[in-house]
Amino acid sequence: MTAGNGEGSRWFRVADEPRDWEDFYRERWSFDKSVRTSHGVNCSGSCSWEVFVKDGLICWELQKTDWPQINSDTPNYEPRGCQRGISASWYPYSPVRPKYPYVRGVLLDFYEQERAAGKDPLGAWAAIVEDPERKQTYRKARGKAGWRRTTWERATEIWAAAIIYTIKTYGPDHLASFSPIPAMSMVSFLSGHRFCNLLGGTMLSFYEWYHDLPHIMPMMWGDQTDVHESADWYQSTYWVVIGSNLPMTRTPDAHFASEHKYNGGKIVNLAPN
Ligand code: SF4
Repeated sequence: MTAGNGEGSRWFRVADEPRDWEDFYRERWSFDKSVRTSHGVNCSGSCSWEVFVKDGLICWELQKTDWPQINSDTPNYEPRGCQRGISASWYPYSPVRPKYPYVRGVLLDFYEQERAAGKDPLGAWAAIVEDPERKQTYRKARGKAGWRRTTWERATEIWAAAIIYTIKTYGPDHLASFSPIPAMSMVSFLSGHRFCNLLGGTMLSFYEWYHDLPHIMPMMWGDQTDVHESADWYQSTYWVVIGSNLPMTRTPDAHFASEHKYNGGKIVNLAPN
């Protein structure tokens, strides 16, 4: 095919153009295999994704839109997905992803000093927390970074010493425990939960720990906030949304809020900020 009109023309022949550069774009979307999955990032959206793998690395993701419609009276669940999800595969390869155990540096220094002086793990921990000055020093260091990498053996030793010290000194019910939340990893959550229960400790929920959701809800109702299907939003007639930006925090389900308005519903939004 000729795009120009002869010698000396500013036009050129497309067929003569080098086309190697196009391989860059073809390679960008090539892959060895794909798997179906979702994102365990505590969104609890469970959107349907196809993840493509090349040379053992996640190279791109494609949202699938094959969730079934639950009945003809309710809008489809699809399309779902969110901006965090489409970039979730960056996380495993991030240079700042923690891959090793870290202990706050000032605490690790105290502990190593005591171990080097011949104390056993329990004695070393006791020497730190029973010394008002050192106890205050490592606690005041919280929130100011200063993490230091250590071995798994050392990290678990310190952790075990602290637990045993607390049980022996105050009793097992003084253990306030946290485990990865169920929406991120059910196995991790249950193993931590079981460990705490076996010791007789107190298992706190993630609400108490980082207050990302209203803890008044489980306190009053004994249940976690949105305990119904998001599709039920569509069936309601009157909503009160308190302190939440649905398209931001509930991206894959926010469309049910819009559709509920088309269904004749009303939304009142209390936005404290
Ligand atoms: S809401 Fe976002 S992060 Fe969660 S599963 Fe859906 S796409 Fe993934």
